[in-house]
Amino acid sequence: MKLKTILKPLVAAGLFAAASSLVMAADAAPKQILFKNVNVFDGTSAELKKGVNVLVEGNLIKAIGRDAKAADGSQLIEGEGRTLMPGLIEGHGHLQMNGDSLADIENNRNWEELAIRSSVNAKAALMSGFTTWRDAGGMGAGLRKTIDAGLVEGPRIYPSGGFIGPTGSHADFRNFTTPNETMNGPQSAGGRLGMTLTADGVDAIKAAGRQNFMQGATQIKIMSSGGVASQFDPWQLDAYSEEEIRAAVEVADAYGSYVMSHAYSKKSIMRCLENGVKTIEHGFMFDKDVAKMMKKKGAYMTTNMQAFSPLLSQVAAISASKASSRKANSAQKAFKDYVANVNKYKPKLGFQGDCIGLPESCQKQNDHQIYLGAKFFGNHYYLKALTSVNGEIVKLSGATLDPYPDGKLGVIQVGAYADILLVDGNPLKDITVIGGNEKWFEAPARKGIKTMRVIMKDGVIYKNTL
Ligand SMILES: [Zn+2]
Repeated sequence: MKLKTILKPLVAAGLFAAASSLVMAADAAPKQILFKNVNVFDGTSAELKKGVNVLVEGNLIKAIGRDAKAADGSQLIEGEGRTLMPGLIEGHGHLQMNGDSLADIENNRNWEELAIRSSVNAKAALMSGFTTWRDAGGMGAGLRKTIDAGLVEGPRIYPSGGFIGPTGSHADFRNFTTPNETMNGPQSAGGRLGMTLTADGVDAIKAAGRQNFMQGATQIKIMSSGGVASQFDPWQLDAYSEEEIRAAVEVADAYGSYVMSHAYSKKSIMRCLENGVKTIEHGFMFDKDVAKMMKKKGAYMTTNMQAFSPLLSQVAAISASKASSRKANSAQKAFKDYVANVNKYKPKLGFQGDCIGLPESCQKQNDHQIYLGAKFFGNHYYLKALTSVNGEIVKLSGATLDPYPDGKLGVIQVGAYADILLVDGNPLKDITVIGGNEKWFEAPARKGIKTMRVIMKDGVIYKNTL
């Protein structure tokens, strides 16, 4: 039965006043927008497809080719040989972790400040070309729902809910003096807000995972090794046992989704992969054995490139604490073979920004990481990390939980979501056209990226400077 047939009697009966606009929407043909004469980077190929048109209908890509045409009266965008490419995808970001450091978030920011700042971060991310964002911990689905309802602007979001980690881990935001919540103490502020969940042992991990899925997480994030920006855990810490990792995987499986795990040490990485974790986060000790196991398991890795910058210790979240600075030094020494190993074994690598903070510092950090990734691995490999590979990663959330199930993400293909950038120049040759910047802290503050001329998400244009 047609929508119109169902709604008409309701409208007539005066039961459903808003339905009249729905009837009109059901009758109207979907809106078309035609990008004319563009060179396409499709998210995977090393070559641009030159001189084609790309037709968007509604929120999907409808046709690609020299003859692709739009219906009369449709909006035309003259590409004039610019590069049309997929919107960028953040594989591991933290929109709501927007204090200067973990301690600053825990001690000085309440829910309203964090939430409002997260919407500022979301808008800045979209205006930097990020049309999809896998959030790697610190928030549930609230911001996604607000963006998807059209109330604030931002990327599509795949949230992980609160970080799940054991007592004293990278997910433990307490101060030294805060009693342990699992031993009947009060929670950290992060715990009260659901940004982090302390979970020791199988049952607690299962409960934490289920809590996150209930709150709208599309995947769950565990901390299976120590980290740098946290206080009490050496980065080498082997934080979760096999049984504990399996418990998280079991819960995610039950929801048709997967587990992403923060893992630095080789031992932790291998243990995660052997027990069903699908994406390794950071993965700095990636080597031949890890590459083999990733392939066998169909697993992915996302890595934050700023970890390899000599300027790492100047990041506010690290310089704020002596423990973190010391850890950063020792970690950098241990991770020296990562870049060579990635170039040798070519894993499925996704871009990871992993910024904690507000737009200005995060833009500088991400711009610099885009530059470093392209420099270490080549523009093509890193553009795939920023688009199609992360597009595959977000879809691991499975058909049931995926908030955006109608098309692929991170590719320019017929049937994919119309998440599109139009840029001056060719990013396969020059990574600066999508923001890559050799400078980090000394880079000037920016609003948007000048060479990024059009930003479209879900068929809607958010920026057009043509
Ligand atoms: Zn992170």
